Amino acid sequence: MRLLSLMASLLCLLSLPARAELRVVATVPDLAALAQAVGGDKVSVQSLALPTQDPHFVDAKPNLVLQLNRADLLLSLGLELESGWLPVLQTGARNPKILRGGAGFLDCSQFVTLLEVSGAPTDRSQGDVHPRGNPHYLYDPRAALRVAKGIAARMAQLDPENAKAYEANLARFTQELEAARVGWEKRLAPLKGAPVVAFHKSLAYLADWTGFESVAYVEPKPGIPPNPAHVGRVLRTARARNARLVVQEEYYPTNTSRLVAAKVPVPLVTLPGGTDFRGGQSYVQRMDELVKRLEQGLQGKSP
Ligand SMILES: [Zn+2]
Repeated sequence: MRLLSLMASLLCLLSLPARAELRVVATVPDLAALAQAVGGDKVSVQSLALPTQDPHFVDAKPNLVLQLNRADLLLSLGLELESGWLPVLQTGARNPKILRGGAGFLDCSQFVTLLEVSGAPTDRSQGDVHPRGNPHYLYDPRAALRVAKGIAARMAQLDPENAKAYEANLARFTQELEAARVGWEKRLAPLKGAPVVAFHKSLAYLADWTGFESVAYVEPKPGIPPNPAHVGRVLRTARARNARLVVQEEYYPTNTSRLVAAKVPVPLVTLPGGTDFRGGQSYVQRMDELVKRLEQGLQGKSP
């Protein structure tokens, strides 16, 4: 009898409607962190790429297709950053909502004032992975805030019942980020006007925000690995311009940057490739870590 009533209550539990969470999938962990900040407990968020992966080149694995199959909203950085791997996942997911043009697809580059947009589309066959402008805009917290607003608006459209919650979360996030930004700008004031050697053109928005000048890139073109002749030119420029730092993401090989940094000589700063979203890190914590590493570099410490 007791068993029967237990089974009955179990069945009752099972027949309750599942909690209607908005299922959000972001291409990269920084976007996932922004979505989590504005979605709060009304959403579940996953990131397709890890912070340790180069976001231009992600393996289109079957488990990612599964995530997209169930998604209500797909967030993309756009500008062809993900064009080498996202379209095949979208097609494989058999979920029309998250296809380009669908209500569940959001290209977040539309919210940002873009840098490095050339008039003529660059030939991707030459290896340039930024043919439509620079997609690394989440290094600028001002751009991240605009993206967060755009995400909140789309969440409210898809899930009007919780629109008030998204609005409140966005307000809280705005306050937290703006307060943090003031502190970061103070700490990074010495970067203003500083000549910096970057590995990839990913630092354009960080430079625009903090005021440093990228005088050379270790990559001859975005996505093209360094070669000896180019490294020679980078070294000459770095010395002639009195570069203060060499900066790159952790997901790039460090051997060439290490060589350049040692020969100039200046500190090499390696930045995390993104928010450690699965580890519970927030976007604000991610930027705080980035600011800390740049600060340490300016103080002459190579991590
Ligand atoms: Zn790039």
